[in-house]
Formats: sequence, C-alpha cells, structure tokens
Amino acid sequence: MTEYEAVIGLETHIQLNTKTKIFCSCKADSWYDAPNTNICPVCCGLPGVLPVLNKAVVEKAVLLANAMHSEIRPLSFFDRKNYFYPDLPKGYQISQFDQSLGKGGYLELPVPAAAAPDNQAYVRRVSIWKLHIEEDAGKTKNTGTRRFIDFNRCGVPLVEMVTGPDLRTADEAAQYLIRLRQLLRWLGISEADMEKGHLRCDANVSVRVKGETILNPKTEIKNVNSIEAVRDAIAKEIQRQIREVEAGHRIEAWTLEWDEDTGTLKKMRSKETEADYRYFREPDLLPIRLSDEWKNHILVDFPELPLTRRARFMEQYGLPEYDADILTGERRLSDYFEETVRAYGGDPKKASNWLMNDVLRMLNDQGLNPAEMKLTPAFLAEILKLVDAGTINISTGKSLLEKVEQSGKAPSQIVSEEGLAKVSDDSAIRAVCQEVLAESPNEVAAYRGGKATLIGWFVGSVMKKTRGKADAALARSILEELLK
Ligand code: ZN
Ligand code: MN
Repeated sequence: MTEYEAVIGLETHIQLNTKTKIFCSCKADSWYDAPNTNICPVCCGLPGVLPVLNKAVVEKAVLLANAMHSEIRPLSFFDRKNYFYPDLPKGYQISQFDQSLGKGGYLELPVPAAAAPDNQAYVRRVSIWKLHIEEDAGKTKNTGTRRFIDFNRCGVPLVEMVTGPDLRTADEAAQYLIRLRQLLRWLGISEADMEKGHLRCDANVSVRVKGETILNPKTEIKNVNSIEAVRDAIAKEIQRQIREVEAGHRIEAWTLEWDEDTGTLKKMRSKETEADYRYFREPDLLPIRLSDEWKNHILVDFPELPLTRRARFMEQYGLPEYDADILTGERRLSDYFEETVRAYGGDPKKASNWLMNDVLRMLNDQGLNPAEMKLTPAFLAEILKLVDAGTINISTGKSLLEKVEQSGKAPSQIVSEEGLAKVSDDSAIRAVCQEVLAESPNEVAAYRGGKATLIGWFVGSVMKKTRGKADAALARSILEELLK
C-alpha cells in the first residue's frame, strides 16, 4: 500500500486591535454596529480623498514580525492589489507586495503527543513566507436573490501572514492556529477571536507519496472560522485527494469553500494567480521608514514569549509540561503564577496545583482575568504559607480563597477574625473525639465488630464539630486509640 503525506500551508489574516482604521479615523472594530454606520469618504474610496497611515498599525505589526523572527525591513512599501469586487469600493486593496514590512521568519510548534500520529510529542518549525500590512475589504451577504454590502469593515487594519508548505497533518495546522492565537493575545495586538473574524485562515492542501519532495497541485480551502473547522476541513480534503490520486485522477487547483452546517467542502471557483492582481506601488502613500530609534522604542518592553516561558517554567520551577502549558496559556496567568511563587518561596508545584485546580475554577466561574482578582498573588502565597506552617489545614485554606476574593481582606486577618486556626491541641481534640464516640454507640459497636472503614466517618464527625479546624491526622490517631 502506498503511504501518502499531506503538504499544508496556511494563509492567515489577523485583525489588529487598533482604535481606528488603517488610513482614516473611523473606529476599527464595528462588530456590534449596524451596517454602513462606521464609514467615511476615505474608507469608502470616494474620489479626491487621500489615505493617512495609522502609526499604531505599524507598531503592532512590528511586534508580530519580531515574535515571528522575521527580518524587519527599515524601508517598506505599500502596493495596490487590483481586483473588482462589490465590497471593495476603490477597485483595489492597499497592501504590501515585494517590499513588505516583514521578511521571512518562523514559528516553532510543539506538537503534543495527543496530536501526534504515533503519540510522540515533537516540534515542527513552520517557516513564514510573507508578513505584510494591508487594509480589509467590506462584507457581502447573500439573502435569497439579494446581495447586501456592508462597508464597515473597509480599511480595518490587517496583517497577512503566509506560511511555507511545512505542515504535514490537520492536527499540526490546528496547533499552528492555537499557538498563533496565543501569541497575538500575549502581545496584545489582536483579540484573535476566530468567530468574530479577527483571525481568518485559508488552507492550501496537497498530497504526495511519502518520501517525495515535489509539490503537487494544491487546493485552497476558504471561509473556515474556527480551529476545529480548519482541522476537519483539512482532514477531509486530504482524504479526498488521496482517493482521487488512488483512482488515477489529477488534482485540480480548485478553491473550496467550507460549509459549516453540513461539514463539507464545495467548489467555489478556479484560482487567480498573482499576476491577475496587477500590483503596482501605491502612489498616495509614502513608504514606511522604520528608523532604529522608532523600532527600539516599539520593542523596548518586548515580552518573553509563551513558548520560551513555558520551557523556562519547566526548567526553573520543575513543572510538568502539562502545568507549564496551562500556566502559560495566557500572559496574565503566567505573571500571576510567577508572582505567587516569588511571594511564597515554597514548592512551585504546590503553587501550580492551587492555581490550576482552585484559582482557575474561580476565574472561569466569575469570568474574571487574573489581574482583576482581589485574591492577589501575595494573598494566595500567604494562604500557602499558613497551610505549610500548620496554622490552618488544607480545607480551611481552600475556603479562604473565596473569602479573600469576596472581602479583599488579608488571609491572616480572616483567620483571626473568624477563629479559623487549626486546633492541634491534643486535649481539646480528645474532648471532641470522646463526645463523638459517646453520641454514636451503634457506629462504635460496628467499628469494634470489624468495620474498620468507619474511622473515616468518625474523623469526619470530629471535623464537622470543629468546623473543619481540627488537625485531621491528630484526630484520627486519638480516635484509633480511644476505639481500641
Ligand atoms: Zn473611514
Ligand atoms: Mn490579504
């Protein structure tokens, strides 16, 4: 049987989260606005207007280019990409062609065991072939026989990024999007919400016999608006192409559209080539001159990137990959973790457990982000220290999380106000144990008759009577002694 492999490249369009559009002062994000209410003569391409470049677009694109290890050109140009379409009122899109802001680059992709064909985690380096700034077009919407056009999206700033044909499986393509989305949010340059079109992806797919190095004709999958849909669409297209090749057919360079409702691919049109766009330099805009001074200013606070931080968390704090991955899923969460560890000074894995099990649940339940919590890293560290010192037991510690979050008071203050300190005084616990045994003659008889598992029930009763404050281990040994 012939073994095949897929050759996949992704084209992504990233909507930058600037306040205003790329060449005019209309608001950039109009997701919640009524159609055609967020437009002006510039973004509608009326005659006699001139575009003025939004500086913030360049700055955010530089951050992304730097994160992608791209060479950043000190001089880059805008070009006109000419095509006729109802939602493109100027008849051309202002984009960048041969001298774009970013040149080359790559994204390293750790593919987890669960997404690997043979359950072995590995790293895939995905090369970046194109990274440029451009304006978005409007939206068209078909309803029955009528077509509507909304110009609100015209002139929204985008970065287009095209990878080399380096991805080999549908899962790798999904991982690429997951990591890219993480990176965009980490840098704070895009909301990267695929459902809202902040991150759009087209996939180029071809197949070849495994071991070959040629590139066969590819198809392009368009209109996929979730990571799961990208994975499904690519997996289906790989299967289709293998079936065609096996049947002796040639793959034609189609453009395919993903139909979300039916989970199938439909043929859209045969593809344009780049020459059809008749690119030429945009005469209405000056080139972008990125001086060293400006570039250094943009990059002065450039953060440690998620994958680097993930590796460091494993190395420096001895965290398992699973923990490191979750804790670096979001920048504010990883900051929160490191601040907690710093204030705590104890075992980082313990801090990680509390954070991942309890604090994350609180965050999700309340829809908060870590920076908004009243349970600050310092307070979480304080709770951990109180538990370590034996001042409170673990269950009291866990209940403190909510209490601190609600009141904003320091954990130690709540402990003294509510008298939550652990009772580890032998005679006090002994008195409660005796009380419990005196009240439960049937259980005592059953225990003495051989039902040893009842010890847990006795301990539980002691904990209940002491409102969770008794030292459970001590209570257990006293109970065992009394029951002998
Ligand atoms: Zn405008
Ligand atoms: Mn584009």
